[in-house]
Amino acid sequence: MLELRRLKEAQPDLGSAADLQIELLQLQRRVQVRVPLPSIKLDTEYLNALLPSGPILQFEHLPIDWSDVRFLLRATASAMRNQEAIEEADVRRVDAICRDASRLPAILRSWYDSVRPGGSQIDPDAAGLETVFQQALRPVLTRSAEAIMAKTDLSGWKHHTCPLCGGEPDLALITPAAERMLICSRCAARWRFDQIACPFCLNDDRTRITSLASRDGQYRLSCCDSCHRYIKAFDARRASRPVMPAVDGVATLPLDAAAIQRGYQ
Ligand SMILES: [Zn+2]
Ligand SMILES: [Zn+2]
Repeated sequence: MLELRRLKEAQPDLGSAADLQIELLQLQRRVQVRVPLPSIKLDTEYLNALLPSGPILQFEHLPIDWSDVRFLLRATASAMRNQEAIEEADVRRVDAICRDASRLPAILRSWYDSVRPGGSQIDPDAAGLETVFQQALRPVLTRSAEAIMAKTDLSGWKHHTCPLCGGEPDLALITPAAERMLICSRCAARWRFDQIACPFCLNDDRTRITSLASRDGQYRLSCCDSCHRYIKAFDARRASRPVMPAVDGVATLPLDAAAIQRGYQ
């Protein structure tokens, strides 16, 4: 929160994005303190044995309190609308989903499972609302991921998607030892990944990967010339604080703009 306020002062252009993140973090913290552990056996041997057929964390394991989730869905949609991050029609769709208690679990499950191997397509009522779901389920997902990560050896996981929830990474961390860790966009789990390869299409031809860095060297971009997607990285070798995805997501908006301008997405 403090880091976001500092960022806003240093770069007023990022003010509304920083304000939105501050508001979302405040909402999530209200719920976070009472999220219980996931309903999966938190035993190292058991979890390590699940990893080869992962992702480990199933929808059934998530400790969801439906009234908290409805609160977070509505509050997230309204916060995002206030900063013009979504349309008024999206707010109404979120509200309709929250009112239909019988369908809410199936809709959330369809979002959760849609990115998992063999997962079905996202429910048409949920399509386009992915960011709202991701933010609203963040307390449950990060709490579950932390509990599992503390007990599981993820070093055998070589895939480009999250070993816990199956999500895609949206940030990478370059460690002081120059290794690259990917950070899940949904549950914030971290796992080691190849230093060069594109985490979306696995292209590992150095000549087809374009790198850019922020002026201070704190952030790097790897842009793939095969699939035209890019991943941002926080370079811990040049940092005075640890990686903080909510802050770094805002701080790297100028890099996003640079990547998009060059035709990446
Ligand atoms: Zn994940
Ligand atoms: Zn690629």
